[in-house]
Amino acid sequence: MDEINEFIDNYSIESLENCLQCDKKIQASELYSTYKICHNCNFHFYIKPYERISLLTDRESYIEFNKELPDEFNYIYDKYPDYANRAQKDTERTGLNDSVLTGYASIGGNRCILIILDFSFMGGNLGLISGEKISLAIDLAVSKKLPIVSIISSSGTRFEEGMISIMQMAKITLSMANAKKSNIPSISLLTNPCTGQAYATLATFSDIIMSEPGASVGLSPLKDLKHSSGSVEFETRTSNALISRGLIDSIVNRNHQKEEVSKIIDLLGNRHKLVYENKNDKVNDFALSNTPIDKREYIAQHPSRPSASLFLNKVFEHFFELKGDRLLENSERIVTGLAQLGGQTTMLVAQEYIKDSNSSIGKYGLSSTDFRKCTRAISLASRFNIPIITFIDTKGHDLSYEEEIKGIGVSLGDTLLSMAELNSPSISVLIGVGGSEAALSLDISDRRLMLENAILKIADNNTESNNANMVLGAKESKELDIVDIIVPEPIGGLHLNPDECFSLLRKVLMIELAELNRLSSRSRFRSKYNKFRGIPGVSNNMLTGLTNDVLSVKSKFTDYLNIKLGKDKQSKKT
Ligand SMILES: [Zn+2]
Repeated sequence: MDEINEFIDNYSIESLENCLQCDKKIQASELYSTYKICHNCNFHFYIKPYERISLLTDRESYIEFNKELPDEFNYIYDKYPDYANRAQKDTERTGLNDSVLTGYASIGGNRCILIILDFSFMGGNLGLISGEKISLAIDLAVSKKLPIVSIISSSGTRFEEGMISIMQMAKITLSMANAKKSNIPSISLLTNPCTGQAYATLATFSDIIMSEPGASVGLSPLKDLKHSSGSVEFETRTSNALISRGLIDSIVNRNHQKEEVSKIIDLLGNRHKLVYENKNDKVNDFALSNTPIDKREYIAQHPSRPSASLFLNKVFEHFFELKGDRLLENSERIVTGLAQLGGQTTMLVAQEYIKDSNSSIGKYGLSSTDFRKCTRAISLASRFNIPIITFIDTKGHDLSYEEEIKGIGVSLGDTLLSMAELNSPSISVLIGVGGSEAALSLDISDRRLMLENAILKIADNNTESNNANMVLGAKESKELDIVDIIVPEPIGGLHLNPDECFSLLRKVLMIELAELNRLSSRSRFRSKYNKFRGIPGVSNNMLTGLTNDVLSVKSKFTDYLNIKLGKDKQSKKT
């Protein structure tokens, strides 16, 4: 540990001439002198906590609290004199009295509670004093209703304190549970290294997890992993690897962290609501074209038809992508993130139709990890009462046996249920192909929108049952009353002039969201319930057809049973 401390002290000095990673000259670089980033290879050097505070927070806004805790917290040092000596040495070397600093700060004009764990003091691990300071800061965030921003560089366990160190996890967990119950937003920024108890608690409990590039992240310190598993490649444990494994939301360079953290606080703050000023401003009565269904089916799957990600970037502002299912993977088939629509925060959950069916991700339908990614975004939005807008465009779910074993049914069910239970307003937009239950997973919403040439398709990925009777266009869906609003497309289809459609869709979404904002969550749920419960009865023709079929099957079955039972009775008699 002393070697690491010495290393940190040596390389963080201002006089470093060459990058430790790529050996390029960095002394004259402004990116290095200001942010301690190599302009050539993007290596992020260690920076001391007060330097970090000045880069991340608004000028002179940081007010530290609980710098010193009451004397009774020092009993641990009285108990172990060797430990006290080591702590004393680290204090002299770093100027810190423990590994944690806490204070009020403002980031891009947003007040927050800042928690910093710093690796330079005893490896940034948790002891009685640091754990107490973190819990006190979280409790203060709850009482002041301020978001929590934590910046973590930490490693392992503070063995000198034994069980007391482990129990800090319980303390922090309870404080964070209380913060979550009180809907306090939390953001963590993981820096190199971010391991041990602080990673498993403060870092992973946060609503949004950001990381610096190249940070080593995980529960066990790298040296412990090497000890237990032999060789472990450093790259498999960096934030860059973790993002593809779905465990963190984004990697942000140090020179952009202030604006990104500020944006997230703004978005999770959910402070503005769209208001419905003019009741006559309805746009849901468009004349639709008479394009035949087979032509619309062709347009819906046109190779140049814009996919969901373009909608997210063109219809909304300040999009911040949330990556991963927080378990195994970050799939490109689902795009989720926070954004604003006319100033109101919305959670966007979109199915990204990968048209290249030969590619590894375009070949199959949506998988269990895709549904988990959706559910995570929907649940986060529900907690902060953020409206959800979903974009539907999928051929269906992955029908492989492998997905069955992974429990795709449970994952799909979770997404359906999270949409049904949602507290906040929800709008779904079918933009291309609505393939069977995978499409429905994002369609249990308060308002169901459909683009003019979009289609609903049952079991598209099952070639045996793919026939014309299983395709419904927007017009047909409207007649059956299973869609609320149809949004017209440019003549010839969306791909010929997407901007025209984006601007109209934006207008429709703003009006509908404003309308939904006026209702209580209870009455939104009630109308959603009635709407979907009513669906089998919406078309008299359909119902009559269905009833006749059912009656016919029922009578045939009764006849069959009578014959069978009659015969059985007779055979028993004989
Ligand atoms: Zn470099």
